[in-house]
This record gives sequence, C-alpha cells and structure tokens, in this order.
Amino acid sequence: MSTTRAPTGKPTAAPRDHSHCAHDPARAHHGHGLSLTHSRQRILDELCAAGRPVGAYEMIDILAERSGKRPAPISVYRALDFLVDNGLVHRLASRNAFLACAHGHGEREAVVFLICDQCGSVEEAVSNAVNSGLAGVAAQTGFAVRSRVIEIAGQCRACAAA
Ligand SMILES: [Zn+2]
Ligand SMILES: [Zn+2]
Repeated sequence: MSTTRAPTGKPTAAPRDHSHCAHDPARAHHGHGLSLTHSRQRILDELCAAGRPVGAYEMIDILAERSGKRPAPISVYRALDFLVDNGLVHRLASRNAFLACAHGHGEREAVVFLICDQCGSVEEAVSNAVNSGLAGVAAQTGFAVRSRVIEIAGQCRACAAA
C-alpha cells in the first residue's frame, strides 16, 4: 500500500489558485475559439495551477502522480506544442520549460519574461515600447517575425530586497 511520489526538491510552488492565469477553467474555451481535448485541458490546468515554468518531463511526472497512469511522452509533447501554437502556453527556451500564459494577449504582441536567477520566479510582462521597437526592427530588416518572446534574466523584487 505504498504510493510512489515524484521526487521533491522542486522550487516551492505558487499558491494553487488560478487568478493569475488568463485561462482559468471558468474562462477556458473562450476567446480563442478553441475546444481543447481532455488531455490538453488537463495539461493547461496543471500549468495554470503550478504558476511557474514546468518542464515536459516534470509535467509527465505531475500527470502520472495525479492519475496513477503515466502518459506517453509524445502525447504530452504534442499537447504542449499545440498549447504553445495557440498562445495558451509560452515556451521558455532558457529554461526548457512551459508556462501558462498570464495574459491572453494578442497573437502579435511581444511577451517579455522577467526570470529570477535566484528563486526561479517568472513574471510575464507586455510592453508597447517593445512591440513597436520590434516592429521597427522587423520592418528595417524585412524580417518576418514568428516568435516574439523575450527572456530577461535577473533578480525579482523580493530577491533583490532580501
Ligand atoms: Zn502570454
Ligand atoms: Zn526571485
């Protein structure tokens, strides 16, 4: 009668509320005109609840722990890709991790992630100045922008104050 748990030692999870998440269950399926399959919705819910970046392997662990059944990695990768492609989730290249979108912002809006080196917290910000600056660079160079995700490393307010 022993249950195996995923190894701990993860950063302390944010409080499990969905208020910071633009795609909480009450609002899911709206805005993007998307109907999510059960497994995609589950992954999105887990990312919203985590409130921090979660790697694909860790997501598999979380799903396995919740349901007692280990999902096929490829199905998790595909679901994450789908959520990223549809703007519900962002991929943080520097962390190789995924984060539920906190805004429900426009598809062509630049997203700035402020990533704390110390506590690992990630804040998602949007900036009109960054948007227009990026549009200017793209116009000058004739570059067709696909991804507008900017990752900034540093210290969050709490860590800087400590
Ligand atoms: Zn976002
Ligand atoms: Zn910090």
